[in-house]
Amino acid sequence: MPLISEFDLIQQYFFQKKIKNPENTLGIGDDCALMTVPTGYELAITTDTMVEGVHFFPDANPWQLGYKLLAVNLSDLAAMGARPIAFSLALTIPEAHSIWLAEFSKGLFDLATQFSVDLIGGDTTSGSLTLTIQAMGLVPKERAMLRSNAEIGDLIFVTGNLGDSGLGLEIEKGYKCPSPEQILKQFHQPIPRVLEGQAINGYANACIDLSDGIASDLKHILKKSNVGAQLDWDKIPLSKEVFRYIQETDNWQMPLSAGDDYELCFTVNPEKVDMIKINCTQVGIIEEKLGLRIRRLGKTDELKGKGYEHFS
Ligand code: ADP
Ligand code: MG
Repeated sequence: MPLISEFDLIQQYFFQKKIKNPENTLGIGDDCALMTVPTGYELAITTDTMVEGVHFFPDANPWQLGYKLLAVNLSDLAAMGARPIAFSLALTIPEAHSIWLAEFSKGLFDLATQFSVDLIGGDTTSGSLTLTIQAMGLVPKERAMLRSNAEIGDLIFVTGNLGDSGLGLEIEKGYKCPSPEQILKQFHQPIPRVLEGQAINGYANACIDLSDGIASDLKHILKKSNVGAQLDWDKIPLSKEVFRYIQETDNWQMPLSAGDDYELCFTVNPEKVDMIKINCTQVGIIEEKLGLRIRRLGKTDELKGKGYEHFS
């Protein structure tokens, strides 16, 4: 099996010859990277880790791992309305296998190139496969879309469809879907809503990215903003594959409670909805009465749904 030293590994797979963003004044090669935050901006910082056996299967495709690790981090920046400029990579791998590293770094850089974000540093150690990225972006000062900013009467929107990634996981576990290609692509290669996040920043009040399903993620907005909400089942955007899955299984809660969609969920004052220029769907409304409800088949019920909890 082709193995490689730590120094060569960084040089060969993670060193970028050219830094794309002028804010990144020093990249890989010293004890720290250096960044400048332009006047009038704040630095948005996020970290996400993926662990073998917890977030992905042991035989996961390394290209997809690299892509998705960066995608989930960029999705957090998108939810704040930030423009991503840099990330660092902490890589813990059982062995330095060059084919795995080549594929993993290709997945990473394919997405990094798409959104012009620079890899400016990291750390490399041996151990059970654990992948961590810290991503950084710029957001105009005091303009980040906080979870605490939702207001009573705001309309609730989501980008894309809900539940495609949840169905992707079902397909991976053996569910038979007649046309799985698009669904599996959404599951393994979600496109972080980086452009949408920046586009709505300015008129959207609160925003969150859907990593655990709207039933649990929207509740974070509700708690922080001290408000409630009602969703309208008939308005939830579903792909035809998810629609078919629900008809077959009766599991209508799947698209609301399954994770990994990485769509944005945001709230907008009704007087500002004309400003929305991105593709999105209104799915509900922020209310004074606390809790999350859903209107379905003429009845309004409390919407349960806990996200994935690592320690329960
Ligand atoms: P130190 O001992 O000072 O932590 P390292 O030998 O760990 O330095 O790293 C050398 C340089 O390579 C540093 O600039 C570090 O940021 C970078 N680096 C290490 N691992 C990675 C990685 N997986 N991806 C990107 N940069 C890395
Ligand atoms: Mg180090």
